[in-house]
Amino acid sequence: MDTKYRSIIGGKVTNNKPFFLAILLALLITVQGFSQDLPGNNHPEVYFRFISDEGITKSRLKNISIDKIRGDTIWAYASVERFNELGIKAEVMPVPSKQIVPNMKSNIQLKYVKEWDFYPTYEAYEDLMQEFATTYPDLCKVQTIGTSVEGRDIIMAQISDDLEQTEPEAGFFYTSTMHGDETVGYILLLRLMDYLLSNYGADEEVTKLIDELDIWINPLANPDGTYASGNHTVFGATRFNANGVDLNRNFPDPKDGQHPDGNEWQPETIAFMEFGENHHLTLSANLHTGIEVVNYPWDIWSKRHADNDWWIYVSRQYADTAHLYSASDYMDEFNNGITNGYDWYSISGGRQDYMNYYHHCREFTLELSNTKLPPADELPLYWEWNHRSLLNYMEQCTAGIKGIVTDSLTGQPVRAKILIPDHDKDSSVVFSYLEFGAFYRPIYAGTYDITLKAGGYKEQTLEDITIENQQNIHFNIQLSRAEDYGIPETRGTVFIANPGNSGRLNITSSIHRLREVKVISLCGQLIGSYELEGKHATINLKTVNSGMYICNIHLANGAKVCRKFILAR
Ligand SMILES: [Zn+2]
Repeated sequence: MDTKYRSIIGGKVTNNKPFFLAILLALLITVQGFSQDLPGNNHPEVYFRFISDEGITKSRLKNISIDKIRGDTIWAYASVERFNELGIKAEVMPVPSKQIVPNMKSNIQLKYVKEWDFYPTYEAYEDLMQEFATTYPDLCKVQTIGTSVEGRDIIMAQISDDLEQTEPEAGFFYTSTMHGDETVGYILLLRLMDYLLSNYGADEEVTKLIDELDIWINPLANPDGTYASGNHTVFGATRFNANGVDLNRNFPDPKDGQHPDGNEWQPETIAFMEFGENHHLTLSANLHTGIEVVNYPWDIWSKRHADNDWWIYVSRQYADTAHLYSASDYMDEFNNGITNGYDWYSISGGRQDYMNYYHHCREFTLELSNTKLPPADELPLYWEWNHRSLLNYMEQCTAGIKGIVTDSLTGQPVRAKILIPDHDKDSSVVFSYLEFGAFYRPIYAGTYDITLKAGGYKEQTLEDITIENQQNIHFNIQLSRAEDYGIPETRGTVFIANPGNSGRLNITSSIHRLREVKVISLCGQLIGSYELEGKHATINLKTVNSGMYICNIHLANGAKVCRKFILAR
């Protein structure tokens, strides 16, 4: 939405309303250790609302992070400094994470947890994630995918019957609380892990999900924000990370480029970019709070996603299922609980569009409660209202058109582009993975042609494939070589590693020697061309700006290989 804005008057942050202070003070004096955390004091960010109108320029709004829009009222966050520079007539709102004294738990044992009506301390969260892995070693592995600005771990759990990934499985991913003060999804995802792991073998739906999918769960994407007041409490949590950056505006954007918010990629952002790059994800969702709605792509473009019908279908299914089990006024805003992202308000640098556009992974945004940080005893309600919907969405990852693509002569897996002509656009295509040649294409009920394209192979089209919603169809497809196109790329050909801080890109070819490598930016600019010998090469990209790049690699056998990598420091 191209929102226009009014009235530039001054607005300095002082304390919040005395009335509110009095209530909270009364609440706080009973709890030791909280009395220094009065709302408005020592809080690094300001939550405010104002009326949209003509007059406020877009560049001025670049310095704030819009949280939500209802009618002509805009809620937003800014650092105290940015807010004071803003000079708009705005009403400062109570700090959302300082409305209640959260029930914190520091000593948690999985087997005694039933209701999940508490918030864990940071250390308890770390221990709990490890406890899932040690309690269910055949079904759950836990790893750290990165470290936050302040050095906290960004923890990822993998749940599958095949943790070593010896067979092809579609990748599913849930992540929550990249806005640190939006805590419902954090606890819901911990509880979802418990539900999945403890019901494996006993519950048919859960067993099917764990058997068929490679499930990734990250309950807490912005630990510095959530524990901004210290590891002992989520009271005083912040939306931004420790550098004051809104992580959900910090991703490369299909329209606004690599750094749409003007900030360097944050360590948390890089962790998720590399995770997306290194895993084959088919579906994902990003959990937030502050309003109750399912928000589907695109956030940045008014044009619709190629799979708009499918998006409406799965979003409707999420909200309608929640309605069956929830209070009558739950998730009933917008189109009865769902909205296209852009129709609500446009955001740039969001994770949803990033995952859809750059990783061909279908991701939507779930806004789970109007209260950003509700009392812990309300968390079981949100579980009751949402867990069936969360499971249904995971189940969508087992539906759709699937297949294995192999070389007709050797039987080796082939990386192919799976294209639906006259349908796919804006990166909605999917690719088969080189490890197994497997692909997964979620799609709305209908009849489609499916074209497979791979370098060195004859194009093949499967015609008039009819599929229903919730159904899956599986194909084994053998592609024949087209000799005039050179030698195809097959399994185990070339590996590249993201350069990291050193700026050195390592390329290894396991079978054939490297001949030439070209590094190209996403908009097609040649960064460098390198003549190579041998099976291993290191390219120094120290002076090249951080960004996503494409690497075109020519091998001595004539094969051409294309790889994407992230240069981040
Ligand atoms: Zn949010």
